[in-house]
Amino acid sequence: MANDKSLIEILKSRGVSRRAFLKFCTTTASMMALPPSMVPAIASAMENARRPSVIWLSFQECTGCTESLTRSHTPTVEGLIFDAISLDYHHTLQAASGDAAEHAREEAMKENYGSYLLVVDGSIPLDNPGYSTIAGISNLDMLKETAKGAAAIISVGSCAAFGGLPHANPNPTGAASVADIIKDKPIINVPGCPPIPVVITGVFLHYLTLGTIPELDGLGRPKAFYGQNIHDRCYRRPFYERGQFAETFDDEGARAGWCLYKLGCKGPITYNACATMKWNQGTSFPIESGHGCLGCSEPRFWDMGGFYTALSEPTLDVTRAVGVAAAVGAGAGLAVGAVNQIKKKRAQSNHETVSVDDYKEDA
Ligand code: SF4
Repeated sequence: MANDKSLIEILKSRGVSRRAFLKFCTTTASMMALPPSMVPAIASAMENARRPSVIWLSFQECTGCTESLTRSHTPTVEGLIFDAISLDYHHTLQAASGDAAEHAREEAMKENYGSYLLVVDGSIPLDNPGYSTIAGISNLDMLKETAKGAAAIISVGSCAAFGGLPHANPNPTGAASVADIIKDKPIINVPGCPPIPVVITGVFLHYLTLGTIPELDGLGRPKAFYGQNIHDRCYRRPFYERGQFAETFDDEGARAGWCLYKLGCKGPITYNACATMKWNQGTSFPIESGHGCLGCSEPRFWDMGGFYTALSEPTLDVTRAVGVAAAVGAGAGLAVGAVNQIKKKRAQSNHETVSVDDYKEDA
């Protein structure tokens, strides 16, 4: 529990060489969208960083977020980085149970009051506190009590960030997000069902090295990881541009790797790093495995009109539409579909949420 060793001491004791450490700092800078000139500053900050105490609370969730984090099957430096935080309480991973577990949480809160990081996965049921309790304490009371002494809160997964699956219509438990309840602490949303492991560790790294929370978009997500939509980075995009779409999951188009838009892909309205960072140590991501994006890092993705329902008929490419608009002028008879696409592009560049209904305007 004590923050006794610096990060570099811990990494050295694990056999991580200076060269590997500097390479890791370079990767970290690039992950956090920082220029290479920041690498020496990151290395210096990491060498001196002390392990922050972390309290991790799991509420209405499926354990997928923790599974995601622990699914690395070979040791990596980003795996080792978790030795660099003092994970003082985690319902799923801790060996302690009962009174001993609760004692660990209370001790961590007392010893590190004002400086610990609170991580939450899962939503909080508000309709009836008895829906979900830990050690006889309702999720709501435990969240409020633990948030009091936290320096910042990281909401891991779409349930903690936006309500997620428990919030899906008709929301039988009155599920709420952390930000719906806690108003006086910095909150970083790391949505996804589950989030990409390297994104979770990247947020920790940012806090550990720079001592600040990363720059966030309008939905509280770090821009470094959620600043671009899947569609703009998708390797199937050329097929979209050429109008080549799979119509079923086993037709010729699907076998040829064509665009999955007509099979319900929500890539055009989803902001996440899946297309660039991928999963399972960079092996693949859902679209590469032949399944459209579900939009899991967006609010209310369960209620976005069906996982296999297309957003609308695909229309003019947004980039081309903006170019056309610039060339001929907004008042020169632009097609309604193109105008709508421009509106969406603007909203997306401001990181506003574009709803399914916005796309249906073009249908
Ligand atoms: S619609 Fe989906 S599969 Fe097609 S290019 Fe966009 S993100 Fe990729």
